[in-house]
Amino acid sequence: MATRHNWTKEEILEIYNKPLMELLYEAATVHRKHHDPNTVQVSTLLSIKTGGCPEDCGYCPQAARYHTDIAGNDLMSVSHVKAQALRAKSAGSSRVCMGAAWRNVKDGPEFDNVLEMVRTINKLDMEVCCTLGMLTENQAQRLAEAGLYAYNHNLDTSEEYYKEVISTRGFEDRLETIDNVRKTNVTVCSGGIIGMGEKEEDRAGMLVALSTLNPQPESVPINALVPVEGTPMEEQAPVSIWEMVRMVATTRIVMPETQVRLSAGRTQMSREGQAMCFFAGANSIFAGDKLLTTPNPDVSEDMQMFKALGLNPQKPFTKKSKPETVEATDSKYNSLGEKPKWSRPGHIIERNKVTEEKQKAKAKA
Ligand code: SF4
Repeated sequence: MATRHNWTKEEILEIYNKPLMELLYEAATVHRKHHDPNTVQVSTLLSIKTGGCPEDCGYCPQAARYHTDIAGNDLMSVSHVKAQALRAKSAGSSRVCMGAAWRNVKDGPEFDNVLEMVRTINKLDMEVCCTLGMLTENQAQRLAEAGLYAYNHNLDTSEEYYKEVISTRGFEDRLETIDNVRKTNVTVCSGGIIGMGEKEEDRAGMLVALSTLNPQPESVPINALVPVEGTPMEEQAPVSIWEMVRMVATTRIVMPETQVRLSAGRTQMSREGQAMCFFAGANSIFAGDKLLTTPNPDVSEDMQMFKALGLNPQKPFTKKSKPETVEATDSKYNSLGEKPKWSRPGHIIERNKVTEEKQKAKAKA
């Protein structure tokens, strides 16, 4: 079946709610048509700048306003990043994803350093991904020129529920950044989080937004919320393995060629649960003991699981060839120092406000 870009919410909900065995069978069949079922791509996520973010994402311990116990740090040095990338490579990772807790990328020395990190990791023959917030087209072009393989920018949830999670930027800003990345040869990684209090309709709505992009994202991370104390979502009930399996299987069916990535929330899943997700079409994981700031299984535990399941880590540049790296001195792009007018919808999200006030009072006491 050809990849469709016209899925409706109703069709996706119907798939999501199929009897589980039927859903698993269908997803596994689609998976085998498009991918080697015994190969799983392994990414290492590296937080190159942690905490102090001005945004109000209700799930995120890095938002400055929630004052959670996350130790913040300034931008890592290029040499530190290189050492971490080499360690990840020797542990079986084919991709390094660098995350910075920024609202958007600002031209200047910090971005220049990130570009140097991209060049350095690409030269190690690893796929390089970045997640740095909102991007202009010029910034996307500069990242592409440095050798970036993928840019992550999650839609998080449906357009409707987005307004219950984040008030400091709009859903359309996310789409605009994805569009800017699409103007380059960098691949798109975009997914979301389940367990934030959204309805099944919102899960389907997010998959409509992702699957109707043309082309569809090359990677789709599916996260289960890890509720962190101090954030507005600290009391959310954990999602069940069945919800995770259904979400993975549905994503696989509506986006047959994408790499579906099991992301945050894997520590709460048993090996059997993860195996079921692989069967349902997940073919990528984040490795390493930390996912930006939330815990994650240790790499050696993952490799034991791979051995038990007969899975092999995917080699880098299997899906697309290695990008060229242009040195900074040969760049054909200038830093434009643009100050784009990203939206600030500024609507009130009750649970975010309550948490912010509570944390302010705590800091004063
Ligand atoms: S998810 Fe990203 S943008 Fe939102 S608060 Fe956290 S670091 Fe900032």
